[in-house]
Amino acid sequence: KPSRKAQPAGPEPVPGVDRLVAIASGKGGVGKSTVASNLACALAAEGRRVGLLDADVYGPSQPRMLGVSGRPASPDGKTILPMRNYGVTMMSIGLMTNEGQAVVWRGPMLMGALQQMLMQVQWGALDVLLVDLPPGTGDVQMTLAQKARLDGALVVSTPQDVALLDARKGIDMFNQLKTPIYGLIENMSTHICSNCGHEEHIFGHGGVAREAEKLGVPLLAEIPLHLDIRTSSDGGAPIVVSQPDSPQAQVFRDLARRL
Ligand code: ADP
Repeated sequence: KPSRKAQPAGPEPVPGVDRLVAIASGKGGVGKSTVASNLACALAAEGRRVGLLDADVYGPSQPRMLGVSGRPASPDGKTILPMRNYGVTMMSIGLMTNEGQAVVWRGPMLMGALQQMLMQVQWGALDVLLVDLPPGTGDVQMTLAQKARLDGALVVSTPQDVALLDARKGIDMFNQLKTPIYGLIENMSTHICSNCGHEEHIFGHGGVAREAEKLGVPLLAEIPLHLDIRTSSDGGAPIVVSQPDSPQAQVFRDLARRL
């Protein structure tokens, strides 16, 4: 008689979560976390119940970007209460480690931490849970797709060839994991001078659009490189919150509407 234990655990839904969406990038520094925090705030501003899980184990930046600090409480010693700001329910691996402490965990520990953040955090009822993944194609991505029922992925890239090449690897990974790709997001698309509004294509132009067409996936947003996007994130209030009427915030709101 076949043992039930012998069967590998398939992907499970996260309790209370309608849609689980991964935000991925092939390499670091392309603005994946900036997109994740602004998209989360834009979704919240639209009245959607949204959560953000910061699973970027190598550089968790959501506590800083969303202006959240402190250690999450665990009243029953089993489940963890998430944090909340700007209408976004959030949890970060950065809140479970000491600030400035490098995460040098090996694969199995990373997987345990991810599973805990997905399944033991009291997310409550959410329309969307966004997962800010570490860059690349490693253990965390594989674990997420294998353990949780992932509805789709957004892939963030800059127009530069090297970032595109890495993004292609990321897309290939999601194809192998049978996770649908919702679309590509081009970040640092054009530079808009905060002084005079002059536009310049610092990282080239049109690369992500061409790639999206080649792959047959939509290009969901072109986000400009703008000083205010960085300073607002650094200040703990994403631009969608700190300058909601700016054209830069509008790009993220349009993206939220397409999700
Ligand atoms: P990743 O999550 O891909 O490593 P981050 O979101 O942390 O990247 O972004 C890296 C740095 O670039 C941060 O300092 C962030 O504020 C800045 N940044 C990201 N996108 C933009 C943008 N569109 N305009 C200006 N600065 C940006």
